[in-house]
Amino acid sequence: MWPFKKKQTTQPEALPPASISYSQVDTTERFGDNLGLAQDEWIATIPLNEMTQDPESMGLPSVGASADEVFRVASRLSQLRESIPIPTDGVYCAVCHIANIDIGKLRSPCPQCGRELLKFGWD
Ligand SMILES: [Zn+2]
Repeated sequence: MWPFKKKQTTQPEALPPASISYSQVDTTERFGDNLGLAQDEWIATIPLNEMTQDPESMGLPSVGASADEVFRVASRLSQLRESIPIPTDGVYCAVCHIANIDIGKLRSPCPQCGRELLKFGWD
């Protein structure tokens, strides 16, 4: 997981300056889950909003949000993450909850639902 402070200039909602947000809406179960994965292997991810007390205050989709809403939120977070090069980042589908180590798949269609794959951090 890799929380970071949102830039006020790119943030349409009025959040308090100290508000910490996530840069992705899913995580994996264990640190280092990406190690040993092949480029065509997919691993299940866990929606962060189901593990978070008040997901919306953290910039996450609400529990029970529609697939399109989850994707909209995740895509916006991914845009921020895409502006920062992180060599170990891979991709994930925020709707199907699967991740892959191949950053070359970024913004290409998810093999399951066809939505764009978003940038995913493994730590
Ligand atoms: Zn998908």
